[in-house]
Amino acid sequence: PGQRSKARSLTLGDIFIAVKTTKRFHQSRMELLLDTWISQAREQTYVFTDEEDEALRRRMGDHAIFTNCSAEHSHPALSCKMAAEFDAFLASGRSWFCHLDDDNYLNPHALLKLLSSYSASWDIYLGKPSLNRPIRASEMLPNNQTKPVRFWFATGGAGFCISRKLASKMVPWASGRNFLSTSELIRLPDDCTVGYIIECKVGGQLLPSALFHSHLENLQLIPLSRLSQQVTLSYGVFENKLNVIELSGPFSPQEDPSRFRSLHCHLYPDTSWCLQAVSW
Ligand code: UDP
Ligand code: MN
Repeated sequence: PGQRSKARSLTLGDIFIAVKTTKRFHQSRMELLLDTWISQAREQTYVFTDEEDEALRRRMGDHAIFTNCSAEHSHPALSCKMAAEFDAFLASGRSWFCHLDDDNYLNPHALLKLLSSYSASWDIYLGKPSLNRPIRASEMLPNNQTKPVRFWFATGGAGFCISRKLASKMVPWASGRNFLSTSELIRLPDDCTVGYIIECKVGGQLLPSALFHSHLENLQLIPLSRLSQQVTLSYGVFENKLNVIELSGPFSPQEDPSRFRSLHCHLYPDTSWCLQAVSW
């Protein structure tokens, strides 16, 4: 896109960021995100959870959304949350929908830079491909028959983004109760269902980005000098080991097992608790 076609530059306010969480992670995971990257993207970040929690409500106000989805790791429970995220995005009128898990660190500036290369009036689906090939699945047909389908999808655990134009085309399969019925058609998790709707129903396609990361890849391989360019990072278990980004400080692995606090200090050194951490 040339200079001429750029009506105005994208701002964080154009992005709707949805974080999926569950009651048992409000303290262990959400507090960490609120102390770190969410502090830099308060206005655009909404958290979707399953149970009322005064502590979360106090910190997030009406950006904490208590869905009626069940607190289970089942396909229907997770699809229920994805549908709630999608519907809240549609209602928000914002240009871009980005979904994250509660073990993701989002760098809002890197996200803005990435999305600025595209237009929300194009069909855009950006994320990290879950596999190095399209997934094969069986779509249930009404007459009890099945149809083989193949499609690419972005791993939910690395985060992904969808333009408003594409999201509006997804409505018949993704809004309200439709998301759950669609996920039942292929009996796969919510992130697969998103890919299925986009590739098999709408005719869009996943644009792979190497800037989104889940804990299902070796996070130690990202060089320190590249950390600040990544859109998302994560932490968690991979091949039975704790998988975190490589960063020496300012916090020790004991104080900061996820390394998110250290990363935050790396990106925003003026943060009050970062200054304390290095003043020894
Ligand atoms: N999650 C959820 N309900 C559950 C379990 C997990 O909404 O019952 C959410 C969790 O908060 C996170 C995502 O699903 O945002 C992935 O969960 P987790 O990282 O524990 O599992 P993974 O799939 O990465 O192993
Ligand atoms: Mn995870």
